Parts: sequence; structure tokens; C-alpha cells
Amino acid sequence: MKNKIIVTGGCGYIGSHTVVELIENNYEVVILDDLSNSTEDTLERILKITGTKPTFVNIDLKDKTATKAVFKKHNDAEAVINFAAHKAVGESVQKPLMYYKNNLYSLLNTLSSQLENGIKGFIFSSSATVYGTPETLPITEENETQRPFSPYGNTKKIAEEIIDDVIKSDSKLQSISLRYFNPIGAHESGLIGELPSGVPNNLMPYITQTAVGLREKLMVYGNDYPTKDGTPIRDYIHVVDLAKAHVLAVKRIIDKKQEQPFEIFNLGTGNGFSVLDIINTFEEVTNSKLNYEITERRAGDVPKLFASTKLAKEKLGWTANKNLHEMISSSWKWEQKLRNNN
Ligand code: NAD
Repeated sequence: MKNKIIVTGGCGYIGSHTVVELIENNYEVVILDDLSNSTEDTLERILKITGTKPTFVNIDLKDKTATKAVFKKHNDAEAVINFAAHKAVGESVQKPLMYYKNNLYSLLNTLSSQLENGIKGFIFSSSATVYGTPETLPITEENETQRPFSPYGNTKKIAEEIIDDVIKSDSKLQSISLRYFNPIGAHESGLIGELPSGVPNNLMPYITQTAVGLREKLMVYGNDYPTKDGTPIRDYIHVVDLAKAHVLAVKRIIDKKQEQPFEIFNLGTGNGFSVLDIINTFEEVTNSKLNYEITERRAGDVPKLFASTKLAKEKLGWTANKNLHEMISSSWKWEQKLRNNN
């Protein structure tokens, strides 16, 4: 019998790559998604890659009654991976209530429904944003968290606090929070990848959309930061490497290998690349020039962020394998296939 895993937000960018890895590692997957930032077509694409179409339920996890019902139906699941959330930083500043409501109601409904049905494992998609402006680098899981700059980021910090409180009660919840650094890249097939609705918030889709002519030019916000070339440094991580970490986290929970009921791991490569490094590598990979302009700094940008990868390596047995070239060339392959409608 295959172990069943419920994946909320499984039609989205990171969720779909994780579903592929779960299927390839012999798990049965049930996706819960309201398609607010994804399309049902992802299921066909997962089928093409893996030969299996996961069970899909179109559900808004803010709906408590519907969420309870779906968890009751799938109460034989071993664990839940919670990707469902809105994630646009800028939009969250404009619409904080929408973000708190979506990200936190969904979380509360998921946690209470799974516990009512005896499903104890819970993997949470967190973010390096909970570290705010770190005082020391690389960032370890011991670094203090700070109030994130945006309401979006704050939903991640609050969510981790909620999980911690639930664990401290007599709930039997077993949880792993994975703090992602900067996920980029796409599946090698070019069939799944990041599909931002509207103007992309993140650097990589902005670059690929500029290169295909959807955007006029890329704005680089500031080149006077205290970094080697003045542009901010981030820890970019291939989405397939990230997806594999979720499979290991699920296994750790199912095999009862956790050392504490709530564990937190950073997911990054440990290497920092600047915005100009990304642009230069993109130009190398595509053998073309990107239209970009250096402009003023943007509020809330931190000069340098990169992860310590030690804990994830020691405890999860996970390290990122894919390099920057692979991250960028797979993003580019995805963007090109998308624009050619295949
Ligand atoms: P995504 O938008 O591609 O995927 C999220 C999915 O959740 C979408 O398919 C969306 O339709 C679904 N969803 C949203 N609200 C829902 C609701 N109320 N009910 C049911 N489904 C709902 O985002 P992603 O990039 O794959 O991110 C996945 C998770 O990882 C999110 O929690 C995000 O905050 C977190 N994260 C992402 C990044 C990143 O850079 N992509 C970085 C750190 C953390």
C-alpha cells in the first residue's frame, strides 16, 4: 500500500514539482487547491511527467466546512504538505487583510481538520523572510526571527508560531517547517514551472518574461549595497532540489525520525549570487543581451541573505545538487515552451 499525502496548493509552482517527486517516490497524492494562482492543466502535465494523475479536489481552504469534509474523506493520509497561500509581497502590503485571511484561515482549517481525523504529520512552506535583516551570515536556524517587512512575510512568522503553540498543546501534531531561500528553475521536461499571474514579483520570471518580450525591461533596484557589485545577494535554489527536501521531510515524519515534534530547516544552497550575477549568467545561457536598467533602491530589500545548509544536511540528509546554470537554463526552457504553447 502506498502512503497517502495531502498536498495543499499542489497545482502551484513548488507544489507541482513536489507532487512529481512524491509520485516518483511511490507516494499517493491528493491535491487540494482552489486554482487561485494555478491551473488544472498542471494535472495533465504531472501525468505526462510521471505517468500518474494525482487525485485533485478544487477547494478553497478558507471554507471550513468543505475543508473538514475533504479531510474526513482522506483520513487515511499520513501527512499534509501545506503550500496553499498567497505569496505576492507587494500585493500583501496593499491588501494585508486578504493575505492574513487567506494564509491563516487556510492554515487553521487545515490543522484542525487534519487533527480531527488523526493525521499528525504537517510540513509547512516557510520562508527566509522570517529572519528579517540578519545580523550574522550564513543564516542558521538559530538566528533570531524578526517581524518580516511585509504582511505576506508576517503570515509565515505567525503560522510558525501557531504550529508551535498547537504542538505544545496535547495535539500530537508532528511538524517540519521548511524555510525556503529563493526558489527558481523548473522541471527538466519544461512541462511545469513558475507561472506568475500579472507582473512577476520575483527576479527570475521577470528576466525570462523580459527576454521573450512580455516586459519591456528589468529594473535593478539599487547598485549601491555593500556587496561585490552593489546589487543584493540572495541564495537561489533549484525548485527540484527544494521538492526533494519535502519528500525527505515526509519520510522523516512517517519513519518517526524527528528529534523534536517541531523541527525547522533552512533550504538553500549556501551560495549567494547578486542580481548582476543572475543577469550575466542568463545572458551567457541564452547567448543574448537582456534589457535592464539600474534604478533606485526599493524599500525592504536586505543587502545579503544566504543560508547555512548544515542542519538540513545532517538531519534531513538533504543538500542542493543543481547549480546556477541549471537553474537558469531550466527557467528559460519553461518560459520558451510556455510561450510556444506546449
Ligand atoms: P503558488 O502561488 O505557485 O502556489 C500556491 C498554490 O496555492 C496555488 O496553486 C494557489 O492556487 C493555491 N492556493 C492559494 N490559496 C488557496 C486557498 N485558500 N485554498 C486552496 N488553494 C489555495 O506559490 P509557490 O511559489 O508554489 O509557493 C508555495 C508556498 O511556498 C507558498 O506557501 C509560499 O508562500 C511559499 N514560499 C514560496 C516562495 C517562492 O519564492 N516561490 C518562497 C518562500 C516560500
